[in-house]
Amino acid sequence: MADVTVKQLAETVGRSVDVLLAQMRDAGLSHTSPDAAVSDIEKQQLLSHLKREHGEAAGQPQKITLQRKTVSTLKTAPVTGGKAKTVNVEVRKTKTYVKRSLLEEQEESTREAEEQARLVAEEAVRKAEAERVAAEDAVRRAAEEARIAAAEEEARKAAEEARKQMGGDAKDNRKLSVPKVDVKKLETPEERARREEQAAKDRAAEDVRRRQEDAARKEAEEKASQKTLEQARRIAEELAGRAQTVAPAADTPLARGLVGVAYEDSFAREDREIKRGTTTPTRTAKKGPKKREEQTFRPVQRTLTSALSKKHGFEKPVEKQVYEVSIGESIVVSDLAQKMAKKTREVIRVLMKMGEVVTAEQVIDQATAGLVVEEMGHAPKFVSETALEDSLMDSIVRHGDAKTRAPVVTIMGHVDHGKTSLLDYIRRAKVAAGEAGGITQHIGAYHVETPRGMITFLDTPGHAAFTAMRARGAKATDIVVLVVAADDGVMPQTAEAIDHARASGVPLIVAMNKVDKESVDFDRVLSELSAKQVICEEWGGDTQVVKVSAKTGFGIDELLEAILIQAELLELTAVSEGPAQGVVIESRIDKGRGAVATLLVQKGTLKQGDLVLAGTLYGRARALIDENGKQVKSVGPSMPVEILGLPDAPGAGDEFLVVADDRKAREVADFRIARDRQVRMDLAESMKLENLFANMGKAEVASVNIILKTDVRGSLEALTAALNDLSTDEVRVKIVSSGVGAIAESDVALAESTGSVVLGFNVRADNAARAKCQNDGIDLRYYSIIYELIDDVRDAMSGLLTPERRENIVGMAQVREVFHSSKFGSAAGCMVLEGSLFKNKPIRVLREDVVVFQGELESLRRFKEDVMEVRHGMECGLAVKGYKDIKAGDKVEVYEVQIIKRSL
Ligand code: GDP
Ligand code: MG
Repeated sequence: MADVTVKQLAETVGRSVDVLLAQMRDAGLSHTSPDAAVSDIEKQQLLSHLKREHGEAAGQPQKITLQRKTVSTLKTAPVTGGKAKTVNVEVRKTKTYVKRSLLEEQEESTREAEEQARLVAEEAVRKAEAERVAAEDAVRRAAEEARIAAAEEEARKAAEEARKQMGGDAKDNRKLSVPKVDVKKLETPEERARREEQAAKDRAAEDVRRRQEDAARKEAEEKASQKTLEQARRIAEELAGRAQTVAPAADTPLARGLVGVAYEDSFAREDREIKRGTTTPTRTAKKGPKKREEQTFRPVQRTLTSALSKKHGFEKPVEKQVYEVSIGESIVVSDLAQKMAKKTREVIRVLMKMGEVVTAEQVIDQATAGLVVEEMGHAPKFVSETALEDSLMDSIVRHGDAKTRAPVVTIMGHVDHGKTSLLDYIRRAKVAAGEAGGITQHIGAYHVETPRGMITFLDTPGHAAFTAMRARGAKATDIVVLVVAADDGVMPQTAEAIDHARASGVPLIVAMNKVDKESVDFDRVLSELSAKQVICEEWGGDTQVVKVSAKTGFGIDELLEAILIQAELLELTAVSEGPAQGVVIESRIDKGRGAVATLLVQKGTLKQGDLVLAGTLYGRARALIDENGKQVKSVGPSMPVEILGLPDAPGAGDEFLVVADDRKAREVADFRIARDRQVRMDLAESMKLENLFANMGKAEVASVNIILKTDVRGSLEALTAALNDLSTDEVRVKIVSSGVGAIAESDVALAESTGSVVLGFNVRADNAARAKCQNDGIDLRYYSIIYELIDDVRDAMSGLLTPERRENIVGMAQVREVFHSSKFGSAAGCMVLEGSLFKNKPIRVLREDVVVFQGELESLRRFKEDVMEVRHGMECGLAVKGYKDIKAGDKVEVYEVQIIKRSL
């Protein structure tokens, strides 16, 4: 800042020159005349004097700055070859409390200063504008003159040329390219020349004018902007100067900290930036020299300090991009960094300051992520995980009234209780007959027209492995029909089905099946059901129990009647207009047709060509196929249908939705993929830990590696769950890879590199894969019954168990007498008390039932003859190899070791 005179200073601070001079004198400054120059240093001196004078008297501080410091240590992992580092992490927090009155005053003065600055700046702009206009005027005039001059020159030249040509070759007239019309009008050469002249003149003038105008405008603009800048700078200086002097006079305590300290200055700038809202308002940690820990009183008018210690107070604010960062319920650290356009490292560092030590791929929760985003100066936006999906749902408008729809009925019950047979009877089809091993392994969806209306049935498998399928069946349904064989009663999956129905909150109808059989006991079944809180109407409960026979058809009509009555009670309705929505019942990969998904439409109408979004997949429904294999054009609510056209088999149980455009579908699909990734990572994270603990201090666990391919998603899930359940502490089942569809060469290649067996459930290997299996000796097996596959895997695991050694004592003899012979050493005369003695089996010598020696026999004789075996109750002579100490009364025990293969 340039020096000012005392007079100027007095003007800026709004004091009389005399008063100011007196104050300066008090401050030890030598100024006596109003025109004496006051330097920056002198100003500072004056300020510190004023501060001393007024500050002490002021008593109460106006502003308190509290600083808190926490120190913690952090150990970094050792870098390869290096040592672990211990880093002291010091977190400092500064909080400034300002008296309300002070704040108001500050605001007031800032407002005034700003207002003044604005006025001056406006004036400057006005002036600049006027100058610009004047400059432009001058330019225009100059251009005009130049244009005329140039044009005249050009015209003259052109005229001369024309004249020359006129007087020369008459044939050359054409060269002038005069339009024919003009010739017809009999234009004289003079006229033509004049016209030419005029045109050339115009062109040249236009050109020159434009160029000159451009240059002039640029110059004017530059001049104007420079002027504005200059002016602004001046105002800034003025303001700064005034503030410096006004502040102590107006409010003396303010002057206390006016002396600018570099450190404070950095704060000052921050403060200002906060006001403009450009950078992060909090700075909790600060590296650098240690600061005083105790409460510090720092009544600093920071803006002023800054103004003083800088050459000029105005600084071009660096506009920082503030992103709105949307955060779901959790987020991966690296993803978060990406959303803020920051390096992952920086985000990790911020987290570390907050006491969270994380890795780039770790998942952090919403709240933590929010703090990080704020800390890094961006705006967190907490979104619900389903926001995107919700908006998609909201975008669907279904006009039309909800109409009564058919009930969706899921048949559940224990295996072999007759579920499929019952459905077959109802549908007059023969599904059960064609099933592998006679058990249902897929969820089946059928719709049946009864005289009283349509019913859609979902058939579920009863085998224990299909829990997930049953749960899904119960979820998509309106009514559960529980099939219980009257001759078998409530069995494990019967009980499970009751639980599923209850969990889904759907009504239950009991179909007591096989009533044609003789060995039925209704009361027993009813009481078993009541033990599960399923109480029939006869017994005062509210559950309908219908006696049926899938074999004879007895009671089937009553069952359908019961279902329809229940459906009426439920008042099931759906809007059939608008885009379809529903659930994926099952999916598979068909060799020729690609992914085939069985969908149950719950709302709206699904049409051929609709864009279907199911889970993370989307595609156009190329074809709709009903349960009888017939192509249909559209299906309405409560109807099952198979669709072709998805890029892959969607997860069974996923919801599907018809979406209007590709972009929306992709957006939601991408979002779901990201979310799944997050969930997987969470899971992997926890698994890692679990495994770590589980394997601690344990020898390596043997594992059966499996590559599993199945026909449909549902079986894949069921098998995966069942196989994983087989794992024990000693042997683990490891599903290296799994999928839906035929076994391909790549699967075999993977099997080879991982030492896996390849299991196909209702799928076969293609030619290339089969050949590769044969060449490479890969174990390839096909199954069509779930428990056979599971049993085989269990056997394979058993093969990996270390076999058990079991000892059987096969004979025992007592030593009666001991002979010493030179040939055999010690020979013992024995009596076989139990079993038989065998020459080739291992022995133990026991003395008073304590083992004293373990080894084998040197010889076994009977009446001087070497024998292999001596039976119970006979006498014999024996010598023990390598043992001479045998005594009368000892027992010799012969045993054998049986290696027993263990099974799970
Ligand atoms: P699911 O496993 O529950 O689907 O049972 P299935 O429909 O496959 O039937 C199992 C067995 O029970 C088959 O051998 C059927 O023939 C037999 N079965 C089913 N319903 C009846 C019935 O009402 N009466 C008799 N006697 N046998 C039945
Ligand atoms: Mg079945």
